[in-house]
Parts: sequence; structure tokens; C-alpha cells
Amino acid sequence: MSKIKSINPWTSELLGEYDLLKQEQIDAKVAGSASAFESWKKVPLAERASLMKKAAEVLRKNQEDYARLISAEMGKVIRESRSEVEKCAWACDYYAENAETFLAPETINLPDGKKAKLLHQPLGTILAVMPWNFPFWQVFRFAAPTLMAGNVGVLKHASNVPQCALAIESIFAEAGFPKGVFQTFLIDSKATLALLDNDEIKAVSLTGSEKAGAAVAAAAGKNIKKSLLELGGSDPFIVLADADIAKAAETAVKGRMVNFGQSCIAAKRFIIEEEVFEPFMEAFTEKINLLQMADPLDESADFACMARPDLAEELYAQVTKSVDLGATVLLGGQKPKKGSAQFSPTVLTDIPEESPAFKEELFGPVALVFKVKTTEEAIRLANATEFGLGGSLWTSDLEKGEKLAAQIDSGAVFLNAMVASQPALPFGGIKKSGFGRELGRNGILEFVNTKTVYLG
Ligand code: NAP
Repeated sequence: MSKIKSINPWTSELLGEYDLLKQEQIDAKVAGSASAFESWKKVPLAERASLMKKAAEVLRKNQEDYARLISAEMGKVIRESRSEVEKCAWACDYYAENAETFLAPETINLPDGKKAKLLHQPLGTILAVMPWNFPFWQVFRFAAPTLMAGNVGVLKHASNVPQCALAIESIFAEAGFPKGVFQTFLIDSKATLALLDNDEIKAVSLTGSEKAGAAVAAAAGKNIKKSLLELGGSDPFIVLADADIAKAAETAVKGRMVNFGQSCIAAKRFIIEEEVFEPFMEAFTEKINLLQMADPLDESADFACMARPDLAEELYAQVTKSVDLGATVLLGGQKPKKGSAQFSPTVLTDIPEESPAFKEELFGPVALVFKVKTTEEAIRLANATEFGLGGSLWTSDLEKGEKLAAQIDSGAVFLNAMVASQPALPFGGIKKSGFGRELGRNGILEFVNTKTVYLG
């Protein structure tokens, strides 16, 4: 690949073509980051905060343009694109307002009467390798804490969203961040891995698939550099017999269909107690049937298309293989047209354990439904996955819900709500969903040197 192409997945229109950076350009940009770090780390937190507030203003001022860009490059419906831009501004505000408290030195009183201090100091240039599904949000949830901590950032974005990648770089420039504090590199995977051999890159944060995560973490590990991985998920959505079924079904549809199913924390496996299986399924399938497909720019669209035709093809292959192994199609299941990113919302049941639907992540609008006899069986099934990102559990007994939440192997559990990220809540996974946490105070402390200063 010598060029990166931006293609509208709804219209197939070629929106732009970009040359990949040459090695000498990459080296010069990395040197620019390193020199920007030397001054940026000395900029007082209040000044960094006022620039971050400016970034939030730029996002809000140009919200419509950025939203249209997101929808054009990856097919998200415009209402969701607008919310994504607003959420980025929220994260900028949150870290502008809280970074100083999060990074404040801590004092440790020792048993012998002495004291020590913990300082949280920046590391240098941090590489971000990001996916296309929330092309603004994934980057801002990395950039806002990382820059506020005094680091500088380099972005390698997914190859199908180069215009979003360049727009994000321009947001930080327009907000007044010094040159080199945040840069977008239009590079391929090979050059990304090579960047980790460069001494100026101190750590990496990757959001994406297991395959990409393993490759990037291996390159970081080889160089003794820290990595943070936010990978895939196959989140359970458990509905117990005592739950509010109407609300659970409504949220289940949202949880599965937001971003047309292309979300790591989307509810993917619906585990329903048998007493309420029928009413839940009736409401769930009825609401899915009501969803309207339209142009992503159409205000009434509930969904448009997936982000690329190959992703629709891949998802369909997972569905057909699961059906061949015995899964039943309750809804949808139509073959996507060749070269099209459109996909019919699909519901599968009777899912065999050896099928892709059981074992793999289905990154698109396919719901997997399981009927269970007991709560114990529900928890066992929820944990019967290689992933561990989030989980949603529905019950009218919150005390019982909290006890069960502790038994779910995941980075988060939401009771009577869909799993969703927000600036104040630490976010991340266990098992093959990755390691490390973004957001909240945990997020800003991932890329700092917590230095112990003993006061003798
Ligand atoms: P992807 O194919 O893994 O790509 C993610 C990023 O990694 C892209 O920038 C990609 O660049 C790069 N990349 C891929 N292979 C690489 C390699 N060998 N070396 C270096 N860089 C490499 O994932 P995606 O299709 O964009 O996103 C979907 C996946 O992301 C899903 O599995 C989803 O669950 C996961 N995800 C996780 C979270 C979370 O927070 N846990 C959030 C969102 C998405 P190219 O585009 O150039 O290949």
C-alpha cells in the first residue's frame, strides 16, 4: 500500500487519497515530537488545561463538520456522529478540570516517622494506534489525559479514516497546542511496528483487534516499552427473571445496534432466564424490526451500513459458518450484496459451542441469544468466553445484582443499564480484551512515571 484511501462506505465514493509518509518524514516528525516534549512537560498544568478547554471549544464549534466527516468515512448515522464529537469535548473538559488533582504529588507517612512523596511525571512521546469505529472518541479518550499529563502524542489511525485523523491533528493546532505536541502520522502497520524501535517513542496505546494488539504489544515488549491494549469483546447482556423486561429489551436493542453493532462494548450475547425468555424476545425482535435503514446523513436513520464491504463479508461468513454448525436464524441473515457494506440486522439462537458465534467476536449487527434455566447457568455462560470487557445484568434486586457483578469476569459490569464509556469511569478489559485502563484517574496515570522521592 503506497496510498491511503478514504472511501464513503454508503456511496462507495472515493473521498480522498493520501501518500504514506516516507521514512525520512517519519524520522523528522518523531524528532519534532521529542523536541516539543522538552518544552511541553514544563508548561504549567493550568496552561495545558486552558488549551484543552480550547480543544473542547473547537470541537463544539465545528461539531457538524466533524460529524459529517465521521459519517462520510465510516458510515455512522449522523445523530451518533454528533454525539461522538460532543463526547470528545466532554473528555477534554473533564481532564482540563481534573488533571491537576489526579496528578498532584502524594505523601506517604512511613512507620519510622519519615515521609516520601510520589510524583507523577510524563514519559515523553506516546504512540496511539487507533481503530475506525469511533474515529474521534477513541483518539480523544487517549489524547486528553495523555497530553494533560505532559506527554506528547503521535497518532497512527485506521487506514479507512485518514480525514478524521488529519482533522484531529488540526483541532489541537487550532486550539493553540504548540507544534509537535499532537501529530498524525499517515503510515501503515509495518512502519507503526518500526516506530516502537525508535528510542523517542516511550510507550504505546492500542485500541483494535487481538491480532493488532498482539503484534504491537510484542514490538513494545521487545523494546521494553509499556503497552496498553483495548481489544475486542463479546459482552454478555444477562436478563434475570425479576428484571424490568420492557426496559431490558429496549436497552438490549440499543446496546447491540449502537454504531451498527461495531462497538467493542456492544452487548453481543443475550443470556435470558427461561421464565422471561418469550416476552423478552417478543419485545426485542419487534424493536429490531422497527429500525430504519437510510443514508447516514438522513436524520431519521437508525442505521446505514458497516464501515467497509469486507467487514460485512467477514461478518456474514461468521454467521453462515455458525448456521452450518446448527445455529438458527430468527431474524435477518441475508447475504450482503457483493461490494456493499450494507447488512441486515440479524438474531441467532441455538448457538453451538464450537461455532464462531460462540467463540469469536461478532463486530456488527448480529445478536446472539441464549436461554438459561438458572442464574448460575447465566453467569457460567457469561464467563464462557475468551473476552472480558463489559457486562450488563438486569434484575430488580440491586443487592443480588452487585453480588453477581463480582462473579462476572470483565473490566466493568453495568446493572440495569447498557455498558457505555464516560470520562469519569475507568475503562478496559481482562483476558483477551486487553490490559490497562483508559479514562478516570486510572487513565491519566497509565502513561506517567510514578516517582518515589524519599525524604531522609
Ligand atoms: P484493527 O484491524 O486491529 O485495527 C486497529 C488499528 O491497528 C488500526 O490503526 C490498524 O491499522 C492497526 N493495525 C492493524 N494491524 C496492525 C499490526 N499488525 N501492526 C500495527 N498496527 C496494526 O481493528 P479495527 O478493525 O480497526 O477495529 C475493530 C476492533 O477493535 C474490534 O476487535 C473491536 O472490538 C476493537 N475495539 C476495541 C475497543 C476497546 O476499547 N476495547 C474499542 C473499539 C474497538 P490499519 O487500519 O492500517 O490496518
